[in-house]
Amino acid sequence: MWLVSLDRLPTRNNLAYKGMDMPSIRCPLCDNFVETCDHVFDSCEFASYVRAGVSNWLQIVLLALHGPAELLHLVDTMQISMEKKRVVEAIVFCGCWSIWKFRNDKVFNKGKQRKEYIIDNIIVYSYLWLSNRTKKKYMSLVEWLSIPLSFV
Ligand SMILES: [Zn+2]
Repeated sequence: MWLVSLDRLPTRNNLAYKGMDMPSIRCPLCDNFVETCDHVFDSCEFASYVRAGVSNWLQIVLLALHGPAELLHLVDTMQISMEKKRVVEAIVFCGCWSIWKFRNDKVFNKGKQRKEYIIDNIIVYSYLWLSNRTKKKYMSLVEWLSIPLSFV
């Protein structure tokens, strides 16, 4: 997320800007727009798909904004406890990481991951990330799946 906030991820647009000869600077996920950080994590139809799935799981609205930084600002302004904000923030981080991982799989591994599993992967990875980083409370994966914001 630090690299995303600095726009330093090796997106096709950033690599072309640095002088690399790129066969295309189009987004490999949708093939409709220039691949920038803001596009990949926000305006891309794949990011919309992920945001809708995560919003549905959390039962909160994660709006399409102008990039991950605005999404994290939205999380900061939610009317929920600070602990719950940190959980949502971790899920947003996990979502961005999963999108970038999916993108890299498509570019370098001919897309062996299936789009249908990305929300399940975000649920499992965010559970593993949070359950291994907090000593506050034990929650099973089944509980995490049904009531993730009760983790804190
Ligand atoms: Zn795209």
